[in-house]
Amino acid sequence: MRAWEKNIRRVEPYVPGEQPKIQNVIKLNTNENPYPPTPKAYEAAKGFDMDRLRLYPDPECSDLVHTLAEYYGMKDSQVFVGVGSDDVLAMCFMTFFNSEKPILFPDISYSFYSVWADLYRIPYETPALDDNFCIVPSDYYKENGGVIFPNPNAPTALFMDLEKVEDIIKHNQDVIVIVDEAYIDFDGRSARELVNKYDNLLVVQTFSKSRSMAGMRIGYAFGNEALIKALNDVKFSFNSYTMNITSIVYGIEAVKDKAYFDECVGKIKATRENAKERLAQLGFTFPDSTANFIFASHKIIPAKVIFEELKKRNIYVRYFNKPRIDNYLRITIGTDEQMEKLYKALEEIFEAV
Ligand SMILES: *Cc1c(COP(=O)(O)O)cnc(C)c1O
Repeated sequence: MRAWEKNIRRVEPYVPGEQPKIQNVIKLNTNENPYPPTPKAYEAAKGFDMDRLRLYPDPECSDLVHTLAEYYGMKDSQVFVGVGSDDVLAMCFMTFFNSEKPILFPDISYSFYSVWADLYRIPYETPALDDNFCIVPSDYYKENGGVIFPNPNAPTALFMDLEKVEDIIKHNQDVIVIVDEAYIDFDGRSARELVNKYDNLLVVQTFSKSRSMAGMRIGYAFGNEALIKALNDVKFSFNSYTMNITSIVYGIEAVKDKAYFDECVGKIKATRENAKERLAQLGFTFPDSTANFIFASHKIIPAKVIFEELKKRNIYVRYFNKPRIDNYLRITIGTDEQMEKLYKALEEIFEAV
């Protein structure tokens, strides 16, 4: 071993879902939106003055912050934006989780949390979800250095009632509680309404799923002014110009076009409700999804077999080879047409075995 090797920060990186290089794939593996971004973003793109790229973008992203604040009825000073909610969450870990005590998050949740904890050397504990994949609020009553959980949870798609979310926040007023609401637009009450009540709460959301802009990388957080300022102080100590001009311009269009947003979310919800019936008929069981994906297990055929057989047919879903969930598939809700192809392929697979 070379002497310098001991000074390298070693981390086991997060592994995102596959982005296949081949064409004609039905891609139901990373919870992207099957519909294109708002047509207003295309118009903004056509009118975009390329000369603007000479200049640095607005480091405060003020226009996007203001548009979000207005839309959600918050003050500008209560909104932070980042390059996808992964960036926002990474900033949150760095800014708020600096205790010697372990932070808490569920054993089954977004697998990036443990990666950031390791990266920043934050101790953590992972209370187990119950047998129905529900968070047990009382597990979060003990002393800790902070709390984070997704709601709806990922990859289970289960929503926890706001009363329980508030119960966890209420029992943790000495630390920061982060609610990761990547899927909240597909149903369920947001904890955003609690931001003015609890000064230790941060609610994080994203443009990647409900606003069809995973490729643009836009995420945001709501919290009280002191928390948002703390986040901005850390951000400006790290990299001031994280968000590029085009993201800011297209992001604003996406927020403003509520009619289009409602239409796409409505279509996905309708397809999801239909998928629940169809998957149940095919012999799957799953927690009741309020997200744009379903976390399903088949009564007879192992998830890994189904995953591989679907892939042979160019249909990609997500499989996690992890304790407790290694017999589940996370299936993103696509268009009706894509879902019909999925059901047909599943029928074929089940007939053959
Ligand atoms: C998708 C996802 C994110 C990250 O989304 P970005 O594309 O980085 O905005 C964060 N948390 C959860 C639970 C997610 O599923």
